[in-house]
Amino acid sequence: ERMISAEANSIENVLDQSIRPQKLEEYIGQEKVKNNLQIFMEAAKMREECLDHVLFYGPPGLGKTTLSGIIATEMGVQMRTTSGPAIERPGDLAAILTALEPGDVLFIDEIHRLNRMVEEVLYPAMEDFCLDIVIGKGPTARSVRLDLPPFTLVGATTRAGMLSSPLRDRFGVLARLEYYTEKELAIIVKRTAEVFETEIEEGASLEIARRSRGTPRIANRLLRRVRDFAQVKGNGRITLQLAQSSLEELQVDRLGLDHIDHKLLYGMIEKYRGGPVGLDTISATIGEEPDTIEDVYEPYLLQIGFIQRTPRGRVVTPACYEHFNLEVPK
Ligand code: ADP
Repeated sequence: ERMISAEANSIENVLDQSIRPQKLEEYIGQEKVKNNLQIFMEAAKMREECLDHVLFYGPPGLGKTTLSGIIATEMGVQMRTTSGPAIERPGDLAAILTALEPGDVLFIDEIHRLNRMVEEVLYPAMEDFCLDIVIGKGPTARSVRLDLPPFTLVGATTRAGMLSSPLRDRFGVLARLEYYTEKELAIIVKRTAEVFETEIEEGASLEIARRSRGTPRIANRLLRRVRDFAQVKGNGRITLQLAQSSLEELQVDRLGLDHIDHKLLYGMIEKYRGGPVGLDTISATIGEEPDTIEDVYEPYLLQIGFIQRTPRGRVVTPACYEHFNLEVPK
């Protein structure tokens, strides 16, 4: 498992509970999304309705689940959590929907992975808060309409483009989450350190922020590990110097790149003089699936401008050569 993976590992899902902001005012950054949500929630409360269905999209680890929980807290309701791949049959979804209390938030992570049959059950549920179920089989089968309590569906996806348009159209609120700035991440690191009751220097939280690839989940993970170094090698206090040396030990460089990023970039530089080189060729060179490269490895490298996509393939940019202290080929 990569230190700088934006996906949660199974332990983190549990550990995260204590460090997740509960209120909108504790949620750092994403100002536009936050301001809009504030208005929509207030208006819904004034009308004594539940909030319209919300779709959050954007890369993993940016706070979609957290925001969903905040919506539930702010609206004074419960959040039920499930995910696209977990709901296999229409009956599974029916069971979840009929167990909701009025106003509840139903959070469906990876909603783009719902199958067609399940999706079709979801449409009338979202639109009219009802369920059409078929009773019996063959010629005697008949359809029965069942009322559901009103609820707010919060969907999260890393790929809005993979949602079917009938599903996408049934969300009243669509919000795209962006990568965080270093400053915002430093505030998140400081806040988490407070929850951990760990002292941290200003410079140290910025150092962790800088290496967190714009992603709060990575920032919190790096903080956990640096805190271990502080405890064992220091006196528990996280100084800048300690943060730097432990992040070196963890092999996360000053831009948050790890050995796998290095392998990919060096592979392109050494074997193909920095490209252009096709995705399949890169895949064969470093022995990873093209999909994994595209979905997991590349986004951050594109984001920081270390590689570019051209019609003829991927190209390593001068900024990347500079980062590695290499001469840009003519
Ligand atoms: P996603 O659902 O987008 O994968 P999560 O909501 O699980 O991301 O957030 C990942 C981690 O980052 C959680 O531990 C959460 O506490 C933290 N986090 C995310 N966004 C913020 C934020 N805006 N402010 C503070 N902490 C955040």
